[in-house]
Amino acid sequence: MRSLLVFCLCLYGVWAKHEAYDGSAIYEVSVNNVDEIKYINKLENELFVDVFSHAMPGRPGQVLVPKDKRDEFEAALKDFGLLYKVVQDDVRKQLELEDKLLAAASARSNKNSSRLSFDTIHTYDEVDAYLEELGRTYPDVVTVVVAGNSIEGRPIKYLRISTTNFQDTSKPVVMMQSLLHAREWITLPATLYAIQKLVVDVTESDLVNNIDWIILPVANPDGYSWTHTNARFWRKNRATGFMVGDFCAGVDLNRNFDIHWSTASSGSVCSDTFHGRGPFSEPETKAIHDILAIHGSRVALFLDIHSFGSMILFGYGNGVLPPNALITNLVGVNMAQAIDKVKWPQNRNYIVGNIAHVLYDASGGASDYGMVAGALLSYTYELPAFNNNHNTLNGFLVDPAFIEQAGFETWEGIKVGARAAASYFNPSK
Ligand SMILES: [Zn+2]
Repeated sequence: MRSLLVFCLCLYGVWAKHEAYDGSAIYEVSVNNVDEIKYINKLENELFVDVFSHAMPGRPGQVLVPKDKRDEFEAALKDFGLLYKVVQDDVRKQLELEDKLLAAASARSNKNSSRLSFDTIHTYDEVDAYLEELGRTYPDVVTVVVAGNSIEGRPIKYLRISTTNFQDTSKPVVMMQSLLHAREWITLPATLYAIQKLVVDVTESDLVNNIDWIILPVANPDGYSWTHTNARFWRKNRATGFMVGDFCAGVDLNRNFDIHWSTASSGSVCSDTFHGRGPFSEPETKAIHDILAIHGSRVALFLDIHSFGSMILFGYGNGVLPPNALITNLVGVNMAQAIDKVKWPQNRNYIVGNIAHVLYDASGGASDYGMVAGALLSYTYELPAFNNNHNTLNGFLVDPAFIEQAGFETWEGIKVGARAAASYFNPSK
């Protein structure tokens, strides 16, 4: 009887976890010009459909549409003469497949190893324990720092990696972060891989000796935890109290920084790009602000790692280029080429460019703020969505087969960026 009850509860857990996506479908939408791009943006704000990736001519975008919006969405696309196809009719099946593949990979992994494996996606608690363990094992180079607490009280922890305990101010700093957007799970292995290479394997000793590193693997702990327990495609943090009954929650942290705040983002709580009550209203963005307030003048390279789309983007989000745009573009291209050289052939080459020119206007973004806070070079990485022909996982969903490769190939780009940024860094400035 008891085992039956446990079995029923487990089934309920699995069912409840993906309940929100029952009947949702993913559409691939093609565009030919700016008017059509703007039209999709308008639908995003009016229908609250979830744009997974923005369309551009020659590169269709993906949109998640809930069951009760599908008719309206299709009619709106037809009205405007836009071409579309349904690429996933049963999102819940995909989510269950991801659960199954990741659980199987996790069961196979070596639990006795002191390393965090690259065959599955680790939870906030697992990452947290790992950071602490690194701090204990490598006290001469690793310091665990709490930058603040999330709204739900989770510590926002980052590693300081330095052979001189951050005391040598003539050294440049490379700062990187992942999971500012909760659902972008494939970004976590990118920062964890960098940590492993710098601290455990020490394969490039110049990068550890000549550069100080700040690595923040889980920039949005509450949102990330929510994607594991309640809503896999959750993007924002878990701020509540904006509306009576908490009908909608969450601030898009990548629209909440104090750089052109609210000029190209949403004021609607229910939107996925809701910018919050004011710049730095959220503890998660405040934490990043505080890190940059201390180290900004030494930051030679700032990387905010997102997914998906295979892009290296730089500011500003309003299309105005920074004074060092030429060098920024050059280093971006060099990083992209380093990744393209080792990427899997079925994934496309990286695109490099200004975010507003390549994608769309966006205000309040982390990498834009990185620049005004002092970073010499600042980028948003959009890692690839690995599309495995053997199953239907793509977009934000992670095929375990791709996890280590995502870490490895991104590190190839980071190494190039870090060395270039260090060569341009002038400590007297
Ligand atoms: Zn993102």
